[in-house]
Amino acid sequence: MIRSASPHPFSPAGRMQTLRHMATRDLDVLVIGGGITGVGIARDASLRGWKVALVEKADFAAGTSSRSSKIVHGGVRYLEYGYFLLVRESARERSVIQSIAPHLVHRLEFLYPVFAPDSLMKIRAGLAVFDWLAAAEGGEKHRTLAPREVREHLPGLRDPLKGAVLYPEYITDDARLTLENAQSAAEHGALVANHARAEVLFRASSGRVQGARVRDQLDGEVYEVQARAVVNAGGPWAQQVLEESGLSAPKQLRPSKGIHILLSADRLPIRGATFLKASNGRRGLAMRRLGYVYVGTTDAEYHGSLDAPRATRAEVLDVLAMAQDCFPGAGLGVDDVLATWAGVRPLIAEEGKTTRDTSREDEVWSGPPGLITIAGGKLTTYRRMAGRVVEALRDELGPPPDDEDRTAAVPLPGVPETKVAAFEEDRRRRLESLGVGRETVERLCWLYGRQLDDLLALGSEDPSWLDPLGVGVPAVRGEVKLAVEHEMAARLDDFMDRRSALLLFSPDFGLAAAEEAARIMGELLGWDDERREAELVEYHRLASEHTVPDADQT
Ligand SMILES: Cc1cc2nc3c(=O)[nH]c(=O)nc-3n(C[C@H](O)[C@H](O)[C@H](O)COP(=O)(O)OP(=O)(O)OC[C@H]3O[C@@H](n4cnc5c(N)ncnc54)[C@H](O)[C@@H]3O)c2cc1C
Repeated sequence: MIRSASPHPFSPAGRMQTLRHMATRDLDVLVIGGGITGVGIARDASLRGWKVALVEKADFAAGTSSRSSKIVHGGVRYLEYGYFLLVRESARERSVIQSIAPHLVHRLEFLYPVFAPDSLMKIRAGLAVFDWLAAAEGGEKHRTLAPREVREHLPGLRDPLKGAVLYPEYITDDARLTLENAQSAAEHGALVANHARAEVLFRASSGRVQGARVRDQLDGEVYEVQARAVVNAGGPWAQQVLEESGLSAPKQLRPSKGIHILLSADRLPIRGATFLKASNGRRGLAMRRLGYVYVGTTDAEYHGSLDAPRATRAEVLDVLAMAQDCFPGAGLGVDDVLATWAGVRPLIAEEGKTTRDTSREDEVWSGPPGLITIAGGKLTTYRRMAGRVVEALRDELGPPPDDEDRTAAVPLPGVPETKVAAFEEDRRRRLESLGVGRETVERLCWLYGRQLDDLLALGSEDPSWLDPLGVGVPAVRGEVKLAVEHEMAARLDDFMDRRSALLLFSPDFGLAAAEEAARIMGELLGWDDERREAELVEYHRLASEHTVPDADQT
């Protein structure tokens, strides 16, 4: 008998097979939530030899993990609040994450300008502590700039400028970082599926949690997934996951919304990233990503829908006013805002503190038996958070088969075999020689690692895979095929938002490419005309939610 090869685990057939296996295999751990926290846990647990499954109700990173400031950072700001342990951990994690994902975690010079009456000495002292906590060496250490040097580095900053410190942090694509951790977990044996919602936890008569009923959100099929332990990594939904099964959390979550606005780098020519401080004391950040600069953020208690947070006009104007004040000559106006996004921080409530003052540290709660919940945390510290959950799992399950933390040593799937710079240089040249436009090549190299080779392979089979996806959109058709066949993209917005980042980082939300992307997805996934139309309508709605609301909207 000829046995057919297993499908790619992140292909449509692989996803279906994965869900069936979840319901029939003996599992050690079921992780609920495919944000950075959940996928980090699934990766760590599977690298240790536990049999792991992960379900995500929407798409990987569909929650907060695609709506962050996208920086892998040490959290200099948290020194003010005395969160030294958090800063130490975050600052050291940066280089670990960069080493396992060098194709996706890009170094970015961070400028910390100091305006009178603030003390430059104080900021320098703070950065000296930061360097020490980060164990920074050589080029990783901060350096001080005189006002003239600051002006050269970043023209247009407001007065009265006393100087600045400059130090490195890292920028990433948070959604792809999440995806690659999910793929890495699967490479090491985890059963991973998106669009699969854990509806209710199963409990034995002893009260022990031993799995969950999971519904495939694409076809409605229900799977009973049994596991020796369940991890609730639902981020802002963590409390809801408990409540849906009649459980309560030992502490309350206090969701806090943060928004960003996107501008063209032509309007605000920032080179790396900069802290902002307006003359009224309002603080924020501005980050450069290819031809764009995004500015954020806000931090306010949030009571709206967790599934669809949106920047209000007032929030947009607030962030814009800060940018206008910091760059008085730029003449920025609301018409310069190309896009907005909003995310919800899964903070843990602390009596008497505002959301801004609330700690970004995570907490792991055990109980009832068989259930572990993780709340709080940051993108930057996801690997360390996973380690703490593994400690709690050890109490539930005993030691794992392979009791060694390999998460810092095993590269993510997109890491090229040769040095990243040389790899990118070579692939850049090849793509350009095949007629791919310069802006598209820059974007592809920023976003993908080894996947560039998959694109080139598609292009050599059929050159039309390297054709533009839409007029004026810096993307190629083959990206859609790879997203469906290797990255579990099942809905149009999975591709447009989280695989390709075209929703936020391309002209007019990538709408000029949406039709062709839907056509390619439809062919690969067997959509009829009605389904394709519905996906397009839904994508137009999603794009409209990332515009600046009109004055008469909330
Ligand atoms: C504005 C803003 C800026 C930020 N900037 C940074 C930054 O620059 N750097 C940094 O380090 N951190 C940053 N953070 C923090 C960071 O983004 C979050 O800590 C992190 O993304 C949270 O990840 P998570 O996996 O816990 O939550 P999420 O990403 O929200 O993931 C939870 C997932 O659980 C899924 N889920 C919920 N219920 C179920 C269910 N019943 N079944 C299956 N799945 C379910 C959801 O769909 C969701 O995908 C920022 C946060 C915000 C809001």
